[in-house]
Amino acid sequence: MAKISKSVAKERIEQLRRELEEHNRNYYVLSTPVISDFEYDMLMLELQGLEARFPEFANEESPTRKVGSDLTEISEGFAQVEHRYPMLSLSNTYNEGELIDFHQRVENVAQAPFSYSCELKIDGTAICLIYREGKLAQAITRGDGIKGDDVSRNIVSIDSIPHILHGKNIPAEFEIRGEIFMPYEAFDRLNAERMEAGEAPFANPRNAASGSLKLLDPSKVKERGLDCILYHLLGENLPFSTHSEAIEAAASWGLHVSEHSIVARNIEEVTGYIEEWEERRKSLPYATDGIVIKVDRLDLQRQLGFTAKSPRWATAFKFKPEEALTKVLSIDYQVGRTGAITPVANLEPVPLSGTTVKRASLHNFDQMELLDIRVGDLVYVEKGGEIIPKITGVEFSKRHADVEKPVFPTVCPDCGTPLERDPEQARHYCPNSEGCPMQIKGRFTHFVSRKAMDILAGEATISLFYDKGLIRTLPDLYRLKAEDILGLEGWQQKSVDNLLSSIERSKQVPFERVLYALGIRHIGEATARVAANAFGNIDALASATREDLMQVDDFGEIMAESVVSYFANESNRRTIEELRSFGLQFALSGEKKSEISDRLAGATIVISGNFSISREEMKSLIAAHGGKNTGSVSGKTTYLIAGDKSGPEKLKKAEKLGIRVITEEEFLKMIEGEL
Ligand code: NAD
Repeated sequence: MAKISKSVAKERIEQLRRELEEHNRNYYVLSTPVISDFEYDMLMLELQGLEARFPEFANEESPTRKVGSDLTEISEGFAQVEHRYPMLSLSNTYNEGELIDFHQRVENVAQAPFSYSCELKIDGTAICLIYREGKLAQAITRGDGIKGDDVSRNIVSIDSIPHILHGKNIPAEFEIRGEIFMPYEAFDRLNAERMEAGEAPFANPRNAASGSLKLLDPSKVKERGLDCILYHLLGENLPFSTHSEAIEAAASWGLHVSEHSIVARNIEEVTGYIEEWEERRKSLPYATDGIVIKVDRLDLQRQLGFTAKSPRWATAFKFKPEEALTKVLSIDYQVGRTGAITPVANLEPVPLSGTTVKRASLHNFDQMELLDIRVGDLVYVEKGGEIIPKITGVEFSKRHADVEKPVFPTVCPDCGTPLERDPEQARHYCPNSEGCPMQIKGRFTHFVSRKAMDILAGEATISLFYDKGLIRTLPDLYRLKAEDILGLEGWQQKSVDNLLSSIERSKQVPFERVLYALGIRHIGEATARVAANAFGNIDALASATREDLMQVDDFGEIMAESVVSYFANESNRRTIEELRSFGLQFALSGEKKSEISDRLAGATIVISGNFSISREEMKSLIAAHGGKNTGSVSGKTTYLIAGDKSGPEKLKKAEKLGIRVITEEEFLKMIEGEL
């Protein structure tokens, strides 16, 4: 093991914790991971190793000790419910040696022969179903493991979940857990629809399943084609002595369990099952990312117990990401809506994890150099966190003499403007943001997308309107008249009316979505909402300094700088003024409006923990009464509102700086003017 000093270890531990928290947020909350699970697991392993070597830096809040949580503003609209039995994660391994270590730990406790249940690890999102008197009573997501979102109304639309059970000896009340997943076929269909509508596709079926389960409209959930397989029965005084017996009984009551699970009598049978499914899983109609190995005897499970994060009686053997070898046919250079140039390799089509791969992102110039890729090379392709697969390496032993070294463009492939390089982000940009057709079209496509202004226009419509000279800057959309469009290819009175009324309706789209629609670099859907709540209206946001912005929860340096430079640009300000004149929403709406009172004027407030209302609502209340919400406690903080399970670090810091800590109750009295 390499030597490492205490101070270097401390720094690395902190950095890894920060990175993992960020990836957790991308994965669980935003459903858009940016690294592969394997890369994530390697970072987690490094952190676990360092924390074991330097126990003095242990911290209860570390991602090694907590289940990754998907409870945040995205859960708005669902009641949060405490789990009767915590829903934990699983320890995992990618190699047989560690599996044997797990087996030996179990053997040491068991002291006698025992069996394992071997099951496919379905790559979806966990669900807890509660049945009372044979009827489905409630469905709760894993959430943070302690409490989850009540998604009962959405579960109703999943055909494989029975509402009424039939059969013998059904317990009066029990809980059954399983995985909600999206089969490949439904996933491909959904992504095709999203791309057609100009929306970002889901990275993988897992993210699509978890995103779909949290939709606010149950009828939309039904369209998504979700499925469910159940794998864990829990309850008080259940009459079973093994896990497999319990699952068999569940199946006899009509619950959908996996037909591929087996009971293995020894570790050799476990490894045999792993070997078999490493190959067979490729022909399944849904994604799996490993095998779950569970001690079958329930008394032995109880004896082994749990760590803070996972049971000691089970582990997951994870499969390495699937790889395929294929040929690079050519390389395209795409211009994104922010002007970033992305090299994309066109590949000889090859099957990979249930889909046919034809293109793979090369990210940027540095990555191309690092891979030393040539057109004509055979390359390894892998599906990571992103929808577009990535090239992980070149098979140099198969390189032919006639391969061609690609030449990275020096000018924009669309408008011919010389490219600029952003040294910090290793990206090339086309600086012609106001004149480059691809960037302009990209901005419009983003603006009209469903999560932004929800205007009935896709990429093809935007392209047509642009080519006909009808749109150049965003306000042009609001100047469109029926006679401009009628007569264009494929446009009839009805489709024109539909489009124009969706444009009219978009004037009521709430401020946070308008802010997202503007397409400010690095400001996604969630951060737009945070910024809208923190500042209340566009003028306050436009006049915020870099420092003001960095005080806001979730805002980093890059985001703050991006906002400042967006508003420093004269033409962006003009766009906003014109959009405002058409009646778009540039301030929080009625009930959230900042003019409710100025009782918190001048106060900078940090919130920590859980409250009786969502954190987003707390933030809106702060903004509505003239206060400013920030993410971290500093000398500038006026109050820290401490809710249930508030962060010990924040409390400690507030105490050290002499900052007043108040309860939710006190806060509510304060805004009512009673304190
Ligand atoms: P996990 O997915 O590794 O294992 C636990 C989950 O497995 C359970 O909650 C359940 O949903 C599922 N499961 C499927 N089949 C099962 C079965 N037969 N029996 C029991 N459980 C079954 O753990 P996790 O805590 O949900 O997620 C952590 C993992 O998620 C990480 O190891 C990593 O691979 C991935 N992750 C990736 C990123 C990223 O940025 N790529 C970020 C966070 C987490």
